[in-house]
Amino acid sequence: MGISYIYPEFEVIRNTSRCIGCRVCERQCANEVHLFDQELGCMTADDAKCVDCQRCVALCPTRALKIVKNDCSFRENANWQADTIKEIYKQAQSGGVLLSSMGNPKPLPVYWDKILINASQVTNPPIDPLREPMETRVFLGKKPSEITRNPDGTLKTELPPQLELSMPVMFSAMSYGSISYNAHESLARAAQELGIYYNTGEGGLHEDFYCYGDNTVVQIASGRFGVHEEYLSAGAAIEIKMGQGAKPGIGGHLPGAKIVGDVSKTRMIPEGSDAISPAPHHDIYSIEDLRQLVFSLKEATNYKKPIIVKVAAVHNIAAIASGIARSGADIIAIDGFRGGTGAAPTRIRDSVGIPIELALAAVDQRLRDEGIRNNVSLIAGGSIRSASDIVKAIALGADACYIATSALIALGCHLCRTCQTGKCNWGIATQRPELVKRLNPDIGSTRLVNLLTAWRHEIMELMGGMGINSIEALRGNRLMLRGINLTEKELEILGISHAGE
Ligand code: SF4
Ligand code: SF4
Repeated sequence: MGISYIYPEFEVIRNTSRCIGCRVCERQCANEVHLFDQELGCMTADDAKCVDCQRCVALCPTRALKIVKNDCSFRENANWQADTIKEIYKQAQSGGVLLSSMGNPKPLPVYWDKILINASQVTNPPIDPLREPMETRVFLGKKPSEITRNPDGTLKTELPPQLELSMPVMFSAMSYGSISYNAHESLARAAQELGIYYNTGEGGLHEDFYCYGDNTVVQIASGRFGVHEEYLSAGAAIEIKMGQGAKPGIGGHLPGAKIVGDVSKTRMIPEGSDAISPAPHHDIYSIEDLRQLVFSLKEATNYKKPIIVKVAAVHNIAAIASGIARSGADIIAIDGFRGGTGAAPTRIRDSVGIPIELALAAVDQRLRDEGIRNNVSLIAGGSIRSASDIVKAIALGADACYIATSALIALGCHLCRTCQTGKCNWGIATQRPELVKRLNPDIGSTRLVNLLTAWRHEIMELMGGMGINSIEALRGNRLMLRGINLTEKELEILGISHAGE
């Protein structure tokens, strides 16, 4: 198709006085950016292939490398910006839908950063989490409207099945296939050690990971890949995925190149065939249909496992959640528009869905108004980046949060956003054995445990500062939040006052 219209996005800068020609960068780069030129006797780089994953920078023994954003620019134009022009060039070349991975990177409002947390002063003193007990455990599932006890004080009311978490965090769905075996093992082991849960995503459960069943949520998506009776019974809960924040309204697509070996066996589809999950579940066109599936799954697992229904945050999410709460589901997971993905059409990822903060507040309020809030627990996901995001989400009404991108960052992900190529240099979003082995599950699980141990401590400090000593007392406590730089309408939807009020 002739000349390339696109100048490389990144520039590889090599400090030749530091470079010792060890060729580590060449061996480490699956994108084949670095090459030793025999004739010139030195290293060269093909900038056009660089995705800025920073693997070579991190491993270069002499710190000789630097990757910078190329400052070669188009003529300034507030309307026709560089990314828009480049995307048109790409589509004019390929004729195809643009694909991206990870979450929406557009400069849309991040409401977590416009919400501030309270702290006690003088009256209602703060609590010191190092000296006083602090409860971070949560139980997810339907709560009975009243509790009755036997004469001896024991509980008479039969509790619906619950998930017990040591802290209000779970690893969100990431399928085996979209991420590597070693990434899954790291998540499973960390979930077990932390007393939380990880989620299979729609790829089925590898036979080696059945031993982590007590800390596993098994997912059923529209493609029903890898779903069988043993799989349903293996996990502590079952999640029906109706939608995902990164790509609401469409199904999933794992390219055939990633359906190799155990991935194909686990998904129960032939090697090399594309795994395409349809946009809808072909047996769900109404809340009544959803109810049928919820109760079929309960029936299949003897009413012993909570059923989660996961939806993308979209317009009318409050009404949708109200329907789901009435479908018999025990937990609703809402995924905001910044949620990550292994691959999504760029236009969908960047333009469809709404922020989790607004969706969560609207859902919690609607369920309260309808008197059915205790019929379900709420999990909020879609770019939860820190302990303070979690505290804000709980105060807005969540029972727990899903994290995925932050967990992958803990495993080494540098957010190069090219997971869809299968060439993840950090051994995470790949099935190539030589890349997978770069992620050591011993180290990976330790890093995840470290991250969440640190977050748990920060959550306790933030709660203590507010004079609150349990997640239960924080949940939906919007008086603890204030908005900054928000409109009246935004404050109204979030159900919080402005700072200074
Ligand atoms: S890893 Fe660093 S020192 Fe080794 S060849 Fe590459 S740039 Fe040179
Ligand atoms: S998982 Fe790998 S490919 Fe995906 S964004 Fe992170 S570093 Fe890049």
